[in-house]
Amino acid sequence: MLDMHVHLIGHNDREANRENIRAFLDEASRRGLKEIGFADHDYYWEQMNFSLIREVAQEYPGLAVRIGLEAEYRPHEEGRIKHLLEQFPFDFVIGSVHEFDGWAFDYPEEEPLHWKKDADELYRRYFEVLTLAAKSRLFTTIGHFDLIKIFGVRPRKDILTLADEALSTVAEQGLVLEVNTNGRYKPVGEFYPERRLMEEIMRRGIEFTLGSDAHVAKVVGRDIDEASQLLRQIGVPTVVGFAGLDKVSYKLD
Ligand SMILES: [Zn+2]
Ligand SMILES: [Zn+2]
Repeated sequence: MLDMHVHLIGHNDREANRENIRAFLDEASRRGLKEIGFADHDYYWEQMNFSLIREVAQEYPGLAVRIGLEAEYRPHEEGRIKHLLEQFPFDFVIGSVHEFDGWAFDYPEEEPLHWKKDADELYRRYFEVLTLAAKSRLFTTIGHFDLIKIFGVRPRKDILTLADEALSTVAEQGLVLEVNTNGRYKPVGEFYPERRLMEEIMRRGIEFTLGSDAHVAKVVGRDIDEASQLLRQIGVPTVVGFAGLDKVSYKLD
């Protein structure tokens, strides 16, 4: 299977050197993955070393090694992202919203504020910015679609209503959504997106990819088998990886 969301340099915790690249690729091979996609946060652009990843990847002929980026989407920064994407022929680009209106909401110390805010308004504004990300034509993939649930705060309104416009835009633009298994290790304790959203995503004909969001080598591929089984259970036939911004399809069986 595949893991299209791993962070070689974590939160700038380590260098993009040979030893660290090998640690990620060794774990991917050990877990029997067919494809792995590096997608470091755009904040650490200066620390990235794409040519070294390409070089080390040659030691792993059985593994398709892709190079992507996880870009922070802020509506007024589309030009900045576009400029970054022009610097390298990426295989895929994940657009993620971890921040809106100047509030980086996914840090543990932000949890109390989540509980204080109006939950419907929290979700409404998050999905509004995510919709702009999907409209921007900058990305192949939208990351952790319902990240706003990270601390377990749930809206009163139906999630399908709150996410409706974002989903329509994702479908119109032919973007891919990931099952990001990392949510299970956050206070909310479940994959992104939740199962009802997965079913709606399938119903709308949007394609899925898979990602562990590993920030360390030892969790590359974590719960990816379970995520693919879950997708198959709800009737999703295939998942996609990426090569040169083109989708590469894998049958779920
Ligand atoms: Zn992210
Ligand atoms: Zn990530």
